[in-house]
Amino acid sequence: MMTTDQLLQWDREHLWHPYTSTVDPLPVYPVKTAKGCIITLEDGRELVDGMSSWWAAIHGYNHPVLNRAVREQTEKLAHIMFGGFTHRPAVELGKLLVDRVLPEGIDRLFYSDSGSVSVEVALKMAIQYHISRGNTGRQHFATIRSGYHGDTWHAMSVCDPVTGMHGIFGRTLPVQYFVPQPVSRFRGEWNDSDLDPMRELLDEKGEELAGIIVEPIVQGAGGMYFYHKNYLEELRKLATRYGVLLIFDEIATGFGRTGELLATYHTSIKPDIICLGKSLTGGYMTFAVTATTKEIADTICSGEAGCFMHGPTFMGNPLACAVSKASVELLLSQDWKGRVREIEQQLTEGLAPVSELKSVQEVRCLGAIGVVEMKEPVDMAALIPQFVEHGIWIRPFGKLVYLEPQFMAIHDEELQKLITELRNVLYHNDRIR
Ligand SMILES: *Cc1c(COP(=O)(O)O)cnc(C)c1O
Repeated sequence: MMTTDQLLQWDREHLWHPYTSTVDPLPVYPVKTAKGCIITLEDGRELVDGMSSWWAAIHGYNHPVLNRAVREQTEKLAHIMFGGFTHRPAVELGKLLVDRVLPEGIDRLFYSDSGSVSVEVALKMAIQYHISRGNTGRQHFATIRSGYHGDTWHAMSVCDPVTGMHGIFGRTLPVQYFVPQPVSRFRGEWNDSDLDPMRELLDEKGEELAGIIVEPIVQGAGGMYFYHKNYLEELRKLATRYGVLLIFDEIATGFGRTGELLATYHTSIKPDIICLGKSLTGGYMTFAVTATTKEIADTICSGEAGCFMHGPTFMGNPLACAVSKASVELLLSQDWKGRVREIEQQLTEGLAPVSELKSVQEVRCLGAIGVVEMKEPVDMAALIPQFVEHGIWIRPFGKLVYLEPQFMAIHDEELQKLITELRNVLYHNDRIR
């Protein structure tokens, strides 16, 4: 068996990690096990997890109910092609999502492998919808700046053009249209002029647009920014008026994170297409859903192609469906809303003091998300080892140091440790600046 040092060495020489260099990789920590919100490293050190493995592990790691779902399904059927077959986990999960999670009428589901793919699927649906209606001119998408929708081709094209990958891939990406981020904050004052850029764009390019894609209420990896629900309500009216489909990417916001089951439910409107992923499986494996209405699905399939042109090899994977069903049922069987509210309170009170630091621009919290925006981009290579020394796992990016704890697993004392040690590290760095 390799020693830990050998393991790290081989990793460093052969394995890519997310957004890292092979020439000068950031250090990685070898994880041995994880349980609840405690991550145990190979050397025995324990870290309180503040990241939920990127929004996903809402019930904590190594959960008995989710373990059982995977184990029992493995012994029945780990995978079978979805072309020509169906199975209980796929149908039962679908029914649960339609009956208890998705807005009424958004009841036609497409399963895929990951969040990015579910976004590709949503964009393809929008384009195929218009083509089926005889409109081949609608090939582009509009979105707001600072968004993030994934790393595959079309998904990448609707990510923020500055912080996203347009700089490198710019000329090969499909042309999309960007409008400024709304200035009206969640729970803040509403300023209707936020919509003006979108109104102008639709006036000018409305006929070219297949859809508008946004992360509702919370922009995640593009900036951890919370905006006003009226923006979405007005966007709904505009999309309808211009015949453009409205796509909500709920891959980060789905399943309770923002204090509503979907961020859509902060509003009184429904989009045309919704993408779900990340915490869908309770963070156990990769899986996603793109959901739309019967009218849109049937229109797509009444066109020349006669079907929707997508079908991944691992579509509807039974293990993923079984663990997703277990995760969603587990969530809905508990007072998740009350728990998220308590966590928001604890994050809000606990993080408030750091807003006084001279290195800090702003602190903001919504649901089980606590964000400290710094004035300058943070030095990840310096900061992460400090967090680890303090026994917590936080992975900042850009100017953002943020907590998104496992809201159904974390205890008050563990959350307090995350907050206190985050504060200690930020105070220390503020002093030595
Ligand atoms: C993470 C994320 C994606 C991409 O999902 P992957 O599973 O990483 O492909 C897309 N949209 C949003 C809003 C996300 O947070």
